[in-house]
Amino acid sequence: MRTTRVTAMCVTLWAAVACSASAQGVLPDNLHVDPMLKPMLTWLWSRSPTFRRQCLRIGDAANLTVRVALTTSSPGRNSDALTVVGRDRSGRLIRAEISVVEPLSRRRRLELVAHELEHVVEQLDDLDLASLQRRGVSGVYSTGDHHFETARAAAIGRLVIREADEAQGPSS
Ligand SMILES: [Zn+2]
Repeated sequence: MRTTRVTAMCVTLWAAVACSASAQGVLPDNLHVDPMLKPMLTWLWSRSPTFRRQCLRIGDAANLTVRVALTTSSPGRNSDALTVVGRDRSGRLIRAEISVVEPLSRRRRLELVAHELEHVVEQLDDLDLASLQRRGVSGVYSTGDHHFETARAAAIGRLVIREADEAQGPSS
């Protein structure tokens, strides 16, 4: 399997990043999250249409498994979060491993999860970040060897938090 990495605040091409309701709740079956995050993400799902769209997109991706883990040390390059993606020989995205450092505030944690999930969606969109960055496309930045950051993921993270803040209903 060719591994590709997406980093994060950053997308890495290290070689480089769902929501159908399920019996387990609102998160897609192929999105596996740290147990500590699950109630927060379920709450976020109820308040943010953008987060729901991310979940739908991931949930619809056949053969893709996404894992979100909390880590006590920086996942890399002094960043607070990192996404590493893997593709099969045909180039199909099959896995994404997201790491988010702890401790963080609840808001920051949720923003980073949404940010990193957007990197997964970028890869589902087949964005070639290395190529975009080489061509000087605005909003794609190299943060090191095979590591990339995008304005899109950063903006989506902020949007999801804003939607959660503005939504009606229980505040936590
Ligand atoms: Zn990022």
